[in-house]
Amino acid sequence: MSELAYPYEAPASQALFDRAAAVTPGGVNSPVRAFRAVGGTPRFMVSGTGPYLTDADGREYVDLVCSWGPMILGHAHPEVIAAVQDAVARGTSFGTPAEGEVALAEAMVERVAPLEQVRLVSSGTEATMSAIRLARGFTRRTKVIKFAGCYHGHVDSLLAAAGSGLATFALPDTPGVTGAQASDTIVLPYNDIDSVHAAFAAHPGEIACVITEASPGNMGVVPPLPGFNQGLKDACAAGGALFVSDEVMTGFRTSRAGWYGVEGVVPDLMTFGKVMGGGFPAAAFGGRADVMAHLAPAGPVYQAGTLSGNPVATAAGLAQLRLLDDAAYAKVNAVSEQIQGLVTEALSKEGVAHTLQTASNMFSVFFTDGEVRNYEDAKAQESFRFTAFFHSLLENGVYLPPSSFESWFVSTAHDERAVQRIADALPAAARAAAEATA
Ligand code: PLP
Repeated sequence: MSELAYPYEAPASQALFDRAAAVTPGGVNSPVRAFRAVGGTPRFMVSGTGPYLTDADGREYVDLVCSWGPMILGHAHPEVIAAVQDAVARGTSFGTPAEGEVALAEAMVERVAPLEQVRLVSSGTEATMSAIRLARGFTRRTKVIKFAGCYHGHVDSLLAAAGSGLATFALPDTPGVTGAQASDTIVLPYNDIDSVHAAFAAHPGEIACVITEASPGNMGVVPPLPGFNQGLKDACAAGGALFVSDEVMTGFRTSRAGWYGVEGVVPDLMTFGKVMGGGFPAAAFGGRADVMAHLAPAGPVYQAGTLSGNPVATAAGLAQLRLLDDAAYAKVNAVSEQIQGLVTEALSKEGVAHTLQTASNMFSVFFTDGEVRNYEDAKAQESFRFTAFFHSLLENGVYLPPSSFESWFVSTAHDERAVQRIADALPAAARAAAEATA
């Protein structure tokens, strides 16, 4: 699009954004929130209830971001809120061990068979950073294989060909990461097992681990081809490296046991965040007990955190996990399929070339023909069509991730009324996508 017209305004959000820009770089605390990929004024939200968000101008949106994954029960779920209120009333941080963190770890271990032990942290970034340190400490090797388009948080050594906000901004690397930090990272094309074998052959005895998103959602949804994750596991086993499956996004979302529950490939280490925190900063890494035994204070690999296992966050996470039974997943999967069908129907009707890809209830639309198997394919899409599609939906009360390189998320709270609102908004959005020009 040469010039974007926004036929609607958001004066209260704009005023907040102006205030924010004065005191915060770019006006946001996480880059993709700034709408740079799609233009316009980011919406400042004041409340969330079930499947809806309400912005500072009083507009209500059906939320298809769900806080980038965590809110799988919708916003302000009464039982999660009650658990949080109960925990808050007993104090917000002790700096000592407390039962809540044991209960959350037990709930996770009970659901995910390869998870023998877990360590709680406060963000997904911390989880992947710590898992890699542990893998290096355990194997006494330095090199890490990651895949282009996979995002593992803003860990220095992993900010090479990362997806998510970096895909949005087309920054393959970032200033501030030194050559030394990046030089131990080997970036390979996703879904290409031959390149993995070649890397192991080229660096015998040097590779500490392979880290991959269990099923990537940070270049849009690009699931592993059949056998790819097992191939990684086998290559790691043969090469004396650890297989680290990043389930920060997929964990406890794509099934009761995350992507592991879908595919059954057993990693050596796993990372978690998002859903397990119930909307609070809680994340984790874990896996084989013999590997985790190398972590301080049991072992020599240091890792720590003032707010790790925070009692409010663990109460929220535990309440959310307890509510996530088979019926809850069936509901999320069903509503996801319903919305996928509506999106496909609307875009097909307008003759818009698109590919909708899924990983259980995670999905996203690429404005391109044919299967998207890796980051190169994802980047080849016509993102200008997404921009038009996004703004039309936003105007009509549907909040999508403000980038075409992100997964869409739904919740158990997305009911018939919410789905109907999406259905009503889609025809105009599909038309806008069809009419958009580069
Ligand atoms: N790993 C994956 C797969 C993610 O999707 C993310 C965040 O989106 C992270 C790690 C980083 O998590 P956080 O944003 O909590 O640091």
